[in-house]
This record gives sequence, structure tokens and C-alpha cells, in this order.
Amino acid sequence: MSTTERYWAERPYAGQKALIIGVANERSLAWAIARELHLGGAELAFTFLGEALERRVRPLAESVGATIVEPCNVSDDTQIEALFSKLTEKWGTLDHVIHSVAFANREDLDGRFVDTSREGFRVAMDVSAYSLVALARHAEPMMLNGGSILTLSYYGAEKVVPNYNVMGVAKAALEACVRYLAWDMGPKKIRVNAISAGAVKTLAAAGIRDFRTMLAEAAESTPLKENIHQDDVGRLGGFLCGPGGRHITGSTMYVDSGAHIMG
Ligand code: NAD
Repeated sequence: MSTTERYWAERPYAGQKALIIGVANERSLAWAIARELHLGGAELAFTFLGEALERRVRPLAESVGATIVEPCNVSDDTQIEALFSKLTEKWGTLDHVIHSVAFANREDLDGRFVDTSREGFRVAMDVSAYSLVALARHAEPMMLNGGSILTLSYYGAEKVVPNYNVMGVAKAALEACVRYLAWDMGPKKIRVNAISAGAVKTLAAAGIRDFRTMLAEAAESTPLKENIHQDDVGRLGGFLCGPGGRHITGSTMYVDSGAHIMG
């Protein structure tokens, strides 16, 4: 048996329950992490944003045996409360939360950052950063055996990436939230981390102007000379939720073909 086969045979997440927030379709980074957790034996619950995405998410959820598929707009406290009431009723406990959600108005992902409106700034921060805090607060009482909370970030949090604009500011806040949440929740053995992923063609990425050029340039300029694949994010997500991540918290870990080391 190969090392990989032996790893999956041990089913590292057997008996564990994971809430996956942010699947829009089969290209979503959240779906890559969900598949990895499913392979390792975890039971999954999914959320969707709106009826149009429900039609995409339900069949995917069913394909991995998930029976909990609930609506959740992360900027709506009532929907977050309803989601956690359902999880408490059906599961009682929770081991992992995958937060793979971001949003900014299209006009704020183009042109000059200085033109970001007050409302555009608020929306990007609320959906892309504050939502992690709200979800963590609701998840904490259910995470009785510790566990892990994972979010998705991007290098635009640290350096200027043209057109990423307000989303870069929101990702910087998100990474800071990860550190403060890790400190708050550490005594309960709840770990909080971010994955800073290289560019992958997804629905959310399509909203960034010149994304195709960004992808092509990224492939050329990284040490590994190739873009990452959705599955790379899945594997790192699985690692951070599993035994390998037992003493990793408050971190932002890169899976970007080395893009972040370049000057
Ligand atoms: P995606 O479009 O598949 O996923 C984004 C998800 O956010 C969707 O499921 C959407 O429904 C959800 N969402 C948006 N607003 C929401 C709200 N108010 N309430 C609930 N859900 C909401 O795209 P993705 O690329 O998989 O994005 C997932 C995460 O990965 C995002 O945080 C994104 O910034 C991050 N990320 C993506 C890339 C990339 O190149 N694709 C790189 C680094 C980080």
C-alpha cells in the first residue's frame, strides 16, 4: 500500500463534522477542501447563497452524502443563527468550519482604490472579513472537542495587486481576524488559519478585471513556473484540518507556486 493509500485508509477525519461555506460550483475552492475532507471520512454540511446557487450546490452535496444543505447569506445574522440552530439540532457538535467567501462590488475591483465608496468598503469588509468572526462565534459552542476554522486569503492582502483594490484591504483584515480568533479560541483547542492561494479560475475570480492576464503572468513569474490547481488548496485544507495541523494556528499558509517570495 502506498503512503497516500495508507493515509486515506486511516480515514483521518472519520467521525468528524465539517461545515462548508462558499461552494458555488465544482470549481469553488471550498469544494476542493470538501472533497478532501469527504475522502478522509468527514461528514459534511453545506450552505448556499440564493436559489440559483442552491441548484448547483445540492447535487454536489448529495454526491458526497451530505444531508444538511442550508441557505446562508453571511451578512445576515438571522440566517447565520438559523444555520447554527439546524446544525445544533442535527449534529450537536462540530469539528471544522471552512469559510471560503468573499465579495466586493464589481466597480470596486477596477480602476483606482481611492475611488472606493463608503458603502463599497463596508460591503467588502462585512462579507469577506467580519463574516469569519460571526461564524466563529456561533461555531465555538459546538466545537466541544477542539477543531479547526479555515479561511481563504490572497497575496493582495500584503502587497498591491492592481485591480484587487478593496478586496486586498478586506483580506488584510481577514488575516488579522485569523490571528485574534486564534488567540481567543486556542484555550479550547480550536485552531484558526488562512490559506493564501495562488490564482485559480473560479466564479469569484471572474469578477476581477484582467484576471486572465493575472493568471498568465502568475504562471510565468512564480518559481515553479505554473499556476496552482484547485486540488492543491484542497490538500492543504485537509492537512490543516487533520493531525498534521494539530499545532498550527493563527497562520496564513501559502499555496501559490512560491509567488509570495518574489520581489
Ligand atoms: P467561488 O465564486 O467559487 O466562491 C466564492 C463564494 O462566496 C461563492 O460560493 C459565493 O456564493 C460566496 N459568497 C459571496 N457572498 C456571500 C454572502 N454574502 N454570503 C454567503 N456566501 C457568499 O470562488 P473561489 O475562488 O472559490 O472563492 C473562495 C475564496 O477563495 C474567496 O474568499 C476568495 O477570495 C478566495 N481566493 C480565491 C482565489 C482565486 O484565484 N480563485 C485566490 C485566493 C483566494
